Amino acid sequence: MRSNPHDYEMVAPNSLQATVSLLASEPGVWLPIAGGTDVMVQYAAGNLPARKLVSIWNLPELRRIETSADEIRIGAGSTYTDLRKNEIVAREFPLLATAARWTGGIANQNRGTIGGNIVNASPAADSLPALLAYEAELILVSIRGERRLPYVNFHTGYKKTLLRPDELIQTVCLPRRFSQYISHARKVGARSAQAISKVCIAALGRPTDGRVEDVRIALGSIAPVPLRLRQTEQAVIGRSIDSALLLLARKTAMAEVRPIDDIRSTARYRATVAGNLVVEFLGLLASDRNAVEHRQSNDVLGRWNLLPADEAATAILSCCGSKGWTRGMVARRPLADEDALLAASEETWRSLAPSDWMEAFHSHPRIGISRAPEPPSPQSPSTQSVAWSAQEQSNVGDANDAVKIALADANREYEQRFNRIFIVCATGKSASEILEILQRRLENDAETELREAAEQQRQITEIRLKKWLRR
Ligand SMILES: Cc1cc2nc3c(=O)[nH]c(=O)nc-3n(C[C@H](O)[C@H](O)[C@H](O)COP(=O)(O)OP(=O)(O)OC[C@H]3O[C@@H](n4cnc5c(N)ncnc54)[C@H](O)[C@@H]3O)c2cc1C
Repeated sequence: MRSNPHDYEMVAPNSLQATVSLLASEPGVWLPIAGGTDVMVQYAAGNLPARKLVSIWNLPELRRIETSADEIRIGAGSTYTDLRKNEIVAREFPLLATAARWTGGIANQNRGTIGGNIVNASPAADSLPALLAYEAELILVSIRGERRLPYVNFHTGYKKTLLRPDELIQTVCLPRRFSQYISHARKVGARSAQAISKVCIAALGRPTDGRVEDVRIALGSIAPVPLRLRQTEQAVIGRSIDSALLLLARKTAMAEVRPIDDIRSTARYRATVAGNLVVEFLGLLASDRNAVEHRQSNDVLGRWNLLPADEAATAILSCCGSKGWTRGMVARRPLADEDALLAASEETWRSLAPSDWMEAFHSHPRIGISRAPEPPSPQSPSTQSVAWSAQEQSNVGDANDAVKIALADANREYEQRFNRIFIVCATGKSASEILEILQRRLENDAETELREAAEQQRQITEIRLKKWLRR
């Protein structure tokens, strides 16, 4: 008689010692389950890799977050909500705090754990590039004791890790030496949350006098494992950030990644996006030449926190263009730092109605050359918005005439079809790439396209807020 794929047994020992003893008694037979957000998906699909589950959800040893002078030690059973609420994580490890915000919805963040994300070993997992960038180390535990290893060695192939069948991840250790670095995290997906990444980046850098003094660049969804781009890092360290370096960085990054085609995206698109994200990060380093300027960004925010509401609203309106977003941001003051500012922006944007999104869309000029009057719009873009758009679309001017004309034609078709201008986060993208995206999006139905445009606008707003902080 065949067994039912949905049959399983679950135990919940009340100590770490009892749990590792059970794992050791029958290695590979017992499957640890923490928040269950990956295991229960396997269960629902009838694909549980083991029928005997041992819950580690209530083990206090896995849930602690402790700090010493040198490092933060995050229990592997810490949830994304635990990470989001932790002040040291928010202040010193913004890449991880951002990844925690991106991971699924609130319910998922209340259950999903950092240890589960690591062991599930999806190349698209959101928190793993951050762990690479921060040079995390893992403490694994079994009845034989503890062993500590660099996280960078943990993934040995697609869904393969160095974890032995009788081991648990107990702690994720992050050194506290990157707090003065400039950090950049971006997830490119159909949406930023509740969608699997097509590509995501977590990068840290320290510029001095316009040169790259030190960098860490890690990407997800571009190889069988989350990848640190060592060759790209080596190519840019010590060099001035100019257009030659950006070209070199793009080329090296595109050659270094090993993406695949799948249902979410093509390998070519992923390699192109990887190159764009690296260029975008270096552009941020260039616009943030030294730590003094970085500190000044907090001064900008500090002053903004104290402005009367109407002045505060006017000061940031051109970052997004929507008055609803502006009101939401002003209401969320005071905001402690850049990370809090970006989190507030994302939260506000997600809470808005489509009519607010439309208002933001209307605040942009059309992308590329104009072969027709701009479509009717209730508002004209502000001078600041026009200047930012010009920077964001600066690569479009370098395109050949055929691409420019094709872009103008596709823009016209888009405007006729959707009755508004085409919105894309153009920073770091060539005219041909924008044209390709535009042609793909012309195939969207109205609802899908509205959401895609809204996600692009969210990304534009995020980049503009970072620039605004450093003006
Ligand atoms: C609706 C939804 C949305 C999601 N969105 C995202 C997203 O945006 N980004 C993203 O990266 N992920 C996402 N996920 C995936 C998932 O939430 C994460 O991978 C999460 O971190 C898994 O943690 P968990 O505690 O639930 O793992 P579990 O499901 O409990 O376990 C996953 C695996 O890890 C093992 N394991 C867990 N903890 C340990 C440990 N301490 N030691 C040894 N092995 C351990 C388990 O045995 C199992 O093999 C999503 C999932 C769902 C259902």
